[in-house]
Amino acid sequence: MKLSLVQPNFRQGGSAFSGYWLPYSVGCVYSFSAQSPEFKDKLELNKLVFRREKIEWASDDMAQDDIVLFSCYMWNWEYNKALAKLLKEKSPDVKIVFGGPQVTEFRNAEQIDQLPYVDTFIISEGELSVHEYLTDFEQGNTRKLYSANRVEDLDIPSPYLTGVFDKIIADNPDIKWSTTLETNRGCPFSCTFCDWGSLTYAKVKKFPMEKVYQEIEWLGINKIEYIFMADANFGIFPDRDMPITDYILDVQKRTGFPATVNANWHKNAKQNVIEIVKKFISNGFNRGMTLSVQSMDDDVLKVIKRKNMESSHLGDMMDLLNREGIGSYTELILPLPLETTDTWRQGLAGVLDIGQHNSIEIWFHQVLENATSNLPEHKNEYGFKTIELPDYVAGDREPDHDQHISEITEIVKATNTMPYDEFLDNWMYAWMIINFHCGGWAQVITRVWDKQGKQTYKESYDQLFEAIQNDTGIVGNKYNETRQILDTYMTTGKMTDGAYGHTLFWYANQDFHRNYDAVMEFIGNTFDTRDKRSGLFETQKAFVTNIKHEYPQEFEAKWNYLDFINDADAELTPAHYKWEVDIEKQWNSDEQYLEWLYFRRRQGFGKTKWHQKS
Ligand code: SF4
Repeated sequence: MKLSLVQPNFRQGGSAFSGYWLPYSVGCVYSFSAQSPEFKDKLELNKLVFRREKIEWASDDMAQDDIVLFSCYMWNWEYNKALAKLLKEKSPDVKIVFGGPQVTEFRNAEQIDQLPYVDTFIISEGELSVHEYLTDFEQGNTRKLYSANRVEDLDIPSPYLTGVFDKIIADNPDIKWSTTLETNRGCPFSCTFCDWGSLTYAKVKKFPMEKVYQEIEWLGINKIEYIFMADANFGIFPDRDMPITDYILDVQKRTGFPATVNANWHKNAKQNVIEIVKKFISNGFNRGMTLSVQSMDDDVLKVIKRKNMESSHLGDMMDLLNREGIGSYTELILPLPLETTDTWRQGLAGVLDIGQHNSIEIWFHQVLENATSNLPEHKNEYGFKTIELPDYVAGDREPDHDQHISEITEIVKATNTMPYDEFLDNWMYAWMIINFHCGGWAQVITRVWDKQGKQTYKESYDQLFEAIQNDTGIVGNKYNETRQILDTYMTTGKMTDGAYGHTLFWYANQDFHRNYDAVMEFIGNTFDTRDKRSGLFETQKAFVTNIKHEYPQEFEAKWNYLDFINDADAELTPAHYKWEVDIEKQWNSDEQYLEWLYFRRRQGFGKTKWHQKS
C-alpha cells in the first residue's frame, strides 16, 4: 500500500532562519501501523508534507498513492482542504483520510456533507483508528467515519525511533527543526475554550520512560533546535518530569541540542514546576514561565471550568518567581463568558496586585473546533457574537512560490455580558496596561503609589485611561488609531499594514519610544505633579529607555524608589542614592531598536537596568 502523510505548518523565523515543525502526529499514526505485525513491510511511505508547498506540486507527487492521511488543525485546515480537493479532482482513486483536532464528533454530519472529496474522517486519537481503517481498506470495505478510539497502553512505536522523519531531515539540511515531545497524553481539566481537555482526552496516560529518554537522545543527535513539551501540564508528575528535564539537560550538554525547550506548565503546582523552569532557564533553554490565568474572576473561572490556582496561590507563585529572578508572563483571554467591563478591569489590576509587572498577554477568545465553547448551546447561552478572521494564525511565506491560502479563525467579539463596544474599550484598557505598565511608562509611579496606599492600581489606571481618551497628543492619537484598526479588523477581517492580529498590542509602543519626551510629559501631567519634586517622576523617566540617550548613565536621587518597589520588605528612605542606569543591548539604528523592542520586550528591552553605586 502506498501512502503519503500531510501535516503542514507555517515556516518560521523570518528570512534569516528556515524553521519548520516535524509532522509528529501523522508520524505517530503511521509508525503505529507500519510497525504492527499486520502491516509490517506492507506500507510504502511516499511523501511527507510538512510545509505549505504549492498544492499543484504536492498533489502531483501524491497522484499515484493509494491513501493520503491528513492531520488537520487550525494552522492547516484551509490548506489541507484545498490540497485534498485538488488531489481528488486529479486522482479520484486516491483515498483521502482526514483526522486531527479539526475533525469533530459533534459536527461530523456537517463536515461529511461539506467535504465530499474526503473519503474517511477519523475522530480523536488516530493510531488504532488508522490501523482499523487500513485493515478495512485491504478488504475493500472502508467506512466514512471512525470514531474515538483511545490507545490504552502508550507503549507504542515512536515516529522518531522508527525512522519516519529520517528522509526529510536528510533531504533538508538547511532547515532548523522544531518538534513536540510527548511524555503523556490527556488533560484532567476541561476548560471550555480548549479543544484538548474539554471534549477529548480527560484521562492522562503516560509514555514509558525508556521511550521518552530514547526520543530525547534522538532529538539531540538529529540537531533538533526547538522542543515543545506537548504534555498539557508539564510538571504534574514530578517523579517523571524532573528526571526527564535532567535528561534533556544532559543530552543538550553532550550534543548541543535542543537550543530551546518550552512547555505548557502544570496549572496548580508551585515549587516543583519552578525547579524545572529554573533548570530550563539556567541552561539557556527558556526565558520564563507562563502563568495562564485566563480570567481573574471567580464566576468566569467557574463557567469556563478552569481549575485555576486561587489568586492567593498565584500571588505566592509570583513572589517565588520574583524572588528567584525568574521571568514570567501572564495570559488572559478576552472576552470569556460572564466577563464584564468591571470584572475585566478589576482582573487586570489584580494581576498587577499579585506582582506581575513584566509581561501580560491578552488573547482573543478563539473558538476552537473541538472545544465546548464551539457547541451551539454554549454559544447561545453566553450570547457569543463571532467573526471569522483570515490570517489570524499565520507564519512566514514559503520562499519558492507565492500561493497563499488563508487560514480562518473564529473569534468571539461580544457576549451577553460584554457588548461589542465594551469589548473594544476593554481590549484598549488592556492595551494601556501592557504598554504603560509592562512597557514601563507609568510603572514606577503606580507601583510606588500602590505600595504607599496612596492609589490602587485600579484607581491609577482608570485615571490614566480617562486621560488617554481625552488626550490630543501622541498618546491619544495612538489610542484612537489602534482602536480604529481593531474595530476595522473585528468588523471586516482586514488589518492595517504593519500591524496584525496579536501584535497590534505593541504597534504603538514603537512610536512612544520615538516620542519619548511627549509621552513622559503626558504621564507627568496625568499624575500628581507634587511627586515630581520628590524625584519620583525623575525615577519614572529614567526607568524607560530614551532612544536619544547614550548608555550607561548615572542617576542620582534622594529616595530609593526602585528598591522600594522591587523588594517587598524595603522601606522608602531618604538618603543620597547613586545608580548606574544601563540598557540590555546597544542599538545601531532606530530600526534595530524597534526590532529589539518588539522581540525582546519580555526580557525587559525598552526599560533600563539599574545598578546601585552608593
Ligand atoms: S487549557 Fe490546558 S488545562 Fe485547560 S483543558 Fe486545555 S490543556 Fe487542559
